[in-house]
This record gives sequence, C-alpha cells and structure tokens, in this order.
Amino acid sequence: MGIKILETCTGCSVCIDACPFSAISLCNEKAEIDLNTCTLCGACVEVCPVEAIQMDKQEALITSEKPFSNGIWVFGEQRHGRLAGVVIELIGEGLKLKEKLNEPLSVVLVGYNTDKLVEELQHYGLDSIYVIDDPLLEEFQDEPYAECLEKIVKELKPSIILAGATTIGRSFMSRVAAKIRTGLTADCTGLNITDEGLLEQTRPAFGGNIMATIICRNYRPQMATVRPKVMKPATRRDSLSGEIIRIKHEFSRENIHTDFKSFVAEIMDTVNITEADIIVSGGRGIGCPENFKVIEELAREIGAAVGASRAAVDAGWIPYSHQVGQTGKTVCPKLYIACGISGAIQHLAGMSSSDVIVAINKDPDAPIFNVATIGIVGDLFQVVPALVKELKRCRS
Ligand code: FAD
Ligand code: SF4
Ligand code: SF4
Repeated sequence: MGIKILETCTGCSVCIDACPFSAISLCNEKAEIDLNTCTLCGACVEVCPVEAIQMDKQEALITSEKPFSNGIWVFGEQRHGRLAGVVIELIGEGLKLKEKLNEPLSVVLVGYNTDKLVEELQHYGLDSIYVIDDPLLEEFQDEPYAECLEKIVKELKPSIILAGATTIGRSFMSRVAAKIRTGLTADCTGLNITDEGLLEQTRPAFGGNIMATIICRNYRPQMATVRPKVMKPATRRDSLSGEIIRIKHEFSRENIHTDFKSFVAEIMDTVNITEADIIVSGGRGIGCPENFKVIEELAREIGAAVGASRAAVDAGWIPYSHQVGQTGKTVCPKLYIACGISGAIQHLAGMSSSDVIVAINKDPDAPIFNVATIGIVGDLFQVVPALVKELKRCRS
C-alpha cells in the first residue's frame, strides 16, 4: 500500500488540516507527505478538492464473489494442556451465531499432544475440530501459531474467526489479520449477525463513552477478539460431536525469529477475581484504605474475592489486580456486591453481565442502581456490618 501526491496539487492546504498525524506539509506550494509519519489512514484522500492524493489499497483476499463461507471458527486457545475458559464462552456465542448464519461451527486447536483437549471439545456441540499438532507448537509463539492459522484460513476460508481477547489472542490474532489482509475488531463485548449475514462486532470506544458497532463489509474472514467472561459459556453435553480434521503443516524455521526459553507463571498472592463466583467490590465511597477491612470482612464471611473501582485503585487503597472495569478485569460472578461505587460506564463494562448484582450506595440516583438486581440505598458502613452480623447470626 502506498500514497502519493499528484502534480495536480494546487497547494490549497486542505489536506494539512485534515491529517490527524501532522504528516503533510507544503513544499514549493505543493503538499508533501512524510511517509515515516503517515499511517495511511486515508483522511487526506477524502478531502482533497482536486483528487490529487492517490492511495493504492492492497488487494483484499475477498472480493464481492464471497468465497469465504466455510463457517464460524473459534481459536482453541490452550496452554499446558488446559483450554482457556474463554474458548467455551466463544463456543456458547458461536452456537447462537451459527443459528443465524446457518454455517458450521468449528474450533481450531493448535498445540502439541492435544488429544485430551480434542476429546473435551467434542462435548460442546461443534461441527468440526481442526487440529494442528506439532512439537514446535508445544509453547505459544506468535510466528508459528500465526503461520498455522494463516495457512488453514487461506485453504478453508471461514466466514468468521473468534478468539479470546487474552494475552495470547491479542498478541497473535492481529498478526494473522495483517497476514491475510482483513480487519480485526479487538476486545468485543457483543456479537450479532445482521439480516445481510454480516458479523456485528460491538466494543467500547472513545474511552468507553460509547459502544461502537463495527462491520467488516469487504474483507474476509471477519475477525474479532472477545473479552473473557462477557459471553455465557456453552453447556457441556454427555454426547460427543465434531468431526476431527487433522492438518499437517511443514514449518519453515527461517520464518521463526524467536526462541522459546521458559514459561514463568504469574504468582498470585490474592484470589483471582476473574475466577471468583462471588465478588464484593469497594469504590471511592470506602473513603480510605483502612476502611477496606469492612469489605474484606463481608468477603470472608461469604467466601468472596475483593474487587474495586478504578477510583479506589487510583487512590492507592488497593492494588490494581483488584480493579474491575474497562481498564481492569472483566468479571462475571454469580453474585457481585458493589459498595460505594457510582456505576460509571467504564466500571459497568467489567461487571454488568454478573448473574446477580447487589448495589449499596447512599445516593438513590447513582447509575449503579440501573443495573442492580437488588439496590440498597444507605450508608455502606451501616449496611455492610449489619449484613455481616446477620450472616453470622444465621450461621450460628
Ligand atoms: P465515584 O464515582 O466517586 O462514586 C463513589 C460512590 O460512592 C458515589 O455514588 C457515592 O454516592 C457513594 N458513596 C460515598 N460514600 C458512601 C457511603 N458511605 N455509603 C454508600 N455509598 C457511598 N472505573 C472503573 O471502576 N474501572 C475501570 O476499569 C475504569 N476504566 C476507565 C477507563 C477510562 C478511559 C476512563 C476515562 C475512566 C475509567 N474508569 C474506570 C473510571 C470511571 O469513569 C469512574 O471514575 C470510576 O469508576 C468511579 O469510581 P467510583 O464509583 O468508586 O467513584
Ligand atoms: Fe495524514 Fe492519513 Fe493522509 Fe497519511 S493518509 S498523510 S496520516 S491524512
Ligand atoms: Fe494539494 Fe489536495 Fe492537499 Fe490541496 S488538499 S494541498 S490540492 S493534495
């Protein structure tokens, strides 16, 4: 892809104002583009009154004849013999999309010694499971994983590919999208199929102030990464389904520029809130770090993990690993108790799909009550200890 200014440029400067990256300047009364700064966004092309800016677009893999219609694929992210939880969530969502799109649902499993995972995946109502099993794929590495996916996407032409917006998914799906020259919507929180059969991909935009719905109309496959814990997981069935399709791939070592040295697991000294069934979260209404003991006491009583709003984290009252929300963790517990949290859209983005939400806030107009299953208007320093007392009484 390239961009150039034609001789017909009149030096009107309109493109200079339109360029969001300040990549254009005037030189001898003609526009000139600094190719090191230009991101090829195309904004200048649109505004030039004499069509003096020419940008060549790379040829897409898909054209209007739509050859990509071989189903919905879920990337079967796994590590050390364990499937990522988001895979089962994506299968759950994929089953809904499949009904609307009327195309098969498959998982693509890339790894080494994956037989047990294949067996497990057969319990989720899939049409097929594509497996690439090779010693080189034992540990995740961007390049060989992307090479595998690129190869089978080009051969088998799926309509849609979904992956978790996890460290792995975020890292290598963008590489795959670039290799096959298609679009990718990252960090989606909602998916749907339009009447035209296109994938609607919804994600927070502009700092979470709006939800943007994105469609990839002209390129295939349509690719999206989806935040873990946003979609409901598929139900495990006793019956087995899914044709197992094993694919051989010859790797070219010279295309792999990194060496795997070792895997270092993160050491967690607290409960991982993304795995917890119950979470009690505190916000700015807690007032100071010492007051978090009120929240911790309730959490202990009901076997919950402790979460927090960004305001509490930014104030330094509790570490970042507890933050729930757009720039923190997305959680989907059975019970979420929000104490002294107003319910800003960025916080809701991380917890609104919880099964039951209890909100305790002294402001009856706090937006958190709009998503709460049970709302308690009151001072958390009275309500929470009263709850703890009652729980202890019931137990005894
Ligand atoms: P406030 O909005 O100040 O609310 C405090 C609430 O406590 C009030 O409703 C008040 O009525 C109540 N209260 C006070 N005292 C008591 C009491 N004694 N008893 C009961 N109630 C009481 N926020 C997140 O949480 N997570 C994110 O990931 C996140 N990401 C963001 C990303 C971006 C790009 C931006 C711009 C913002 C983000 N935010 C995030 C910040 C978000 O916009 C809010 O500022 C934040 O969630 C507010 O936190 P809060 O509800 O604890 O505080
Ligand atoms: Fe600026 Fe975008 Fe034009 Fe490049 S393509 S010069 S970044 S407006
Ligand atoms: Fe030249 Fe077009 Fe830019 Fe005007 S808008 S300076 S005519 S390239």
